This record gives sequence, C-alpha cells and structure tokens, in this order.
Amino acid sequence: MPELPEVEVIVRELRVPLMGRRIDDVRTDWPKYFHLPKSEEAFRSCVKGRRIEAVRRRAKYILIHLSPSHLLLVHQKISGRLQMGRWSWNPAVSRWLPSSSDAPPSGRFIHLVFELDNGEQLGLSDLRKFAKVMCGPERDILNLPELRNLGPEPLSPRFTFAAFERLFHHKRGNLKEALMNPAFIAGIGNLYADEILYTALLHPLTRVEHMKTPQLSTLYHSMRTVLRKAIRLGATGRRGPGGARQGYDRVLLVYGREGERCPRGHIIERIKVGGRSAYFCPIEQLRL
Ligand SMILES: [Zn+2]
Repeated sequence: MPELPEVEVIVRELRVPLMGRRIDDVRTDWPKYFHLPKSEEAFRSCVKGRRIEAVRRRAKYILIHLSPSHLLLVHQKISGRLQMGRWSWNPAVSRWLPSSSDAPPSGRFIHLVFELDNGEQLGLSDLRKFAKVMCGPERDILNLPELRNLGPEPLSPRFTFAAFERLFHHKRGNLKEALMNPAFIAGIGNLYADEILYTALLHPLTRVEHMKTPQLSTLYHSMRTVLRKAIRLGATGRRGPGGARQGYDRVLLVYGREGERCPRGHIIERIKVGGRSAYFCPIEQLRL
C-alpha cells in the first residue's frame, strides 16, 4: 500500500510533464473509478478543457489543480499508479496497450486515461482497480471529510516540533496505531511506522501517554528523517531489471524482515498491533 513517500515520488515525477497541459478527454474501461461526480459524462465535463495549474500531494492523495479553481483528486489506493505514457485501446483484447515497447512494466494494467493537449497521456495503471478519482470546485473537494479530517503533514515546514508535541497532549493508546492514524498524522502507514519506530528506538506497543519530551523529540526527527530518505531514494515498490529491489526497498531497516538481522545485528521479530504486523528489534526498541 503506497504511503506518503510513494505518492510524493509520483507527484514529483508528474509535476513537470503535467504543468500547463490541457485535459482534452478522459476514457476508462472501469467507470466505478468515478466517485464524484459518479457518472462518467459528468466527470468528463468536469475535467475536459481545463488546464493543469499545479500538482500537489495531501496525505496519500494526489491533487491536480485545474483552472479555474477546480481540483482533480486521485487516490491510487493499493495498486494504482499514475504515470505519463502513450497507450492505445486495442478492441481485439479490450484493453489499453502501450504504443511503444519501451513502456514501463507498471503500465500494463491501464484502466483510466486522460488525454492531454500535446498528445501525451496521463494513465492510471491499476491491477486491483480499487483507485478512486473525484473532480469538482476546489472548495468542495477540500471540504470532503477524507481531506478535511486529515492530521498534519509530517514534512510540512509548519509542522514544528512544538506542534508535534501538542498532538500528544491528552493522547492515549499504543504508539504505532497513533502514527498510522491519518486523522492524527497524515500519510504514514504500516511500513514507514515500523521504520520510524526502529529509528527512534521505540517499541510499537509503547504507550503514548508514557512518552516525555526527549522521546517525542527523537520520534519527531526520526519521522522526518525516514520519510525524507525514502522520498530521496524513490520510495518502495519499484523493481529493476530481473525484479531486483530498488529504492527504499534496498535499505529497509526492519519492515518485512522477520528473522533477519537489524542494522546492529539483532534478530527482528514480528507481532500484531491493531490487526497489522509490526516488525521491530526486541533488543533496542524500548517499550515505555
Ligand atoms: Zn537491534
């Protein structure tokens, strides 16, 4: 499941090719993608003819600003991936196929295509088809509960340590579930929560109410360091030639590594926290 770094990497890739382009049309073989407006025709008229003014991210959502003052929101969910390319609909096999053979391998499951005014396409590759897209006046989109109820952006310059510490005042429960709660802090999921907790040397079941300023400070800096590093490395989920691990997948500290060794040589364990696997080092990560 993509988290903040994975979405941020995609937003940075799309920003240059999309800026200033006009959306001339949208086509899909899976109209259930359209959550707002729900009808394909209404969605098409919401995006058609509008120019792209900015490409941003909020939590795990991609926000494409359209002129005048409209927003196209894309939530890629589990397997969705927005990408630039050229595909053509092949009626014989009822699917989009890459127009050239050097298309990225992740472009094999295209189910939604935005046609741009320069002949390029913005495609959504999505094996599981759980993604959702919405379009509307900027104010309406930003007012949707899924955006309005989000916690702060972990990497925002405005999200200072003082603001972070304030979040924890009256907060109770276990630390890992707090980090993964999007209404508490946006964009952190299972993978990066484990990586952040290892970096901060805090046990996933640490009680939030037992944490003091020094531990919160370590946690804050670990969160920002891990997320920034992941973005810099291209995040996770990319495979090189022969399926080789790339990007942050090559430097995972603990996530998905039960029975292997942590960076300082201890055996990594796995427990269940809030119904999800939590990977941690039982020697170094302190349970407060
Ligand atoms: Zn260790």
